[in-house]
Amino acid sequence: MIAPPPDPREHLRRPDTRSTLLIQHQILVAARRYLTGQGFTELLAPIIGPVTDPGSRGAKQVDVDYYGHRYKLMTSAILYKQASLLAFDKLFYVAPNVRLEPPETSATGRHLVEFHQIDVEIAGGGRDDAMRVAEELLRHVTAGVVSELGDELAALGRDPGSFTDLLHNPFERIPHETAVADLRRLGHPQSADAELDWTGERMLSEKAARPFFVTAYPKGSRGFYDREDPRRPGVLRNFDLIAPEGYGELASGSERESEYARLVARIRETGENPAKYGWYLRLARDGIPASAGFGLGVQRLTRYLAGREAIWQASAYPKLPGVVSP
Ligand code: AMP
Ligand code: MG
Repeated sequence: MIAPPPDPREHLRRPDTRSTLLIQHQILVAARRYLTGQGFTELLAPIIGPVTDPGSRGAKQVDVDYYGHRYKLMTSAILYKQASLLAFDKLFYVAPNVRLEPPETSATGRHLVEFHQIDVEIAGGGRDDAMRVAEELLRHVTAGVVSELGDELAALGRDPGSFTDLLHNPFERIPHETAVADLRRLGHPQSADAELDWTGERMLSEKAARPFFVTAYPKGSRGFYDREDPRRPGVLRNFDLIAPEGYGELASGSERESEYARLVARIRETGENPAKYGWYLRLARDGIPASAGFGLGVQRLTRYLAGREAIWQASAYPKLPGVVSP
């Protein structure tokens, strides 16, 4: 059983909270340094909009009354990231997201209602480009934490040796199909047509020595903006980055659909009315760049690097699904 958050005074004054938040600060410093050095421009992410990412499975969106119009808090800034490529070829946000996750996810140790993503997008890039940036970003950030914050890691009982493999070896890329077969061999009934379930993901994560990618998820498991493989209908040109030691998913990314007709068709397939996405589809109709990118969860990454039991320990003001808190 994962311990629930204590009251704000106790939480904020605990030495382990301070150590964890110092690690989070270093993650942001190192991520900005790496991405800026690679030619990415940081933009400020939108907080509300007429639509947001519909791809957040099981989570509800939060409505905002915008002068009589029903706007949404961003569940992810994906649509805006794609649009912003009209100004910059390589960009990133540190974007706040709000998702009303189902109350039962409060016990997973991995779900918050309010969290942040380091959101990266590359015009003209393919899936390999996005995976390369995600891998190098994680390596750079981890090296920064290990070299700058040895005392905080020690205070948390996190052995910096846990990251030796990550720092020195390339991350494996495992097709979803192979992950499903591996899990079935291990006796876990993983569906071939869905995301890896939490048990399956944890099993793969626990036996991994370093982070790894799972690629090529089946259509239906993801948002309409993940590009379908033109040579393999029903399979997406996407990936997840998964941490070892049972920490699980850190990031999701993909090549994007950017062609107007494909976007309309994909939105229809999910049962939504394309008219809802008017502003975005008008941009796509006049042309937005093809791209690839990913979103890396800041609190998930903090939890992994700090070696904390629960994700709420990586937030100053944790909001757990179904729990009313400040
Ligand atoms: P998604 O678009 O659902 O794949 O989310 C992108 C990334 O954001 C995930 O890989 C996680 O690192 C992070 N994330 C998603 N949902 C949550 C949540 N409820 N709490 C904390 N982090 C999350
Ligand atoms: Mg994901």
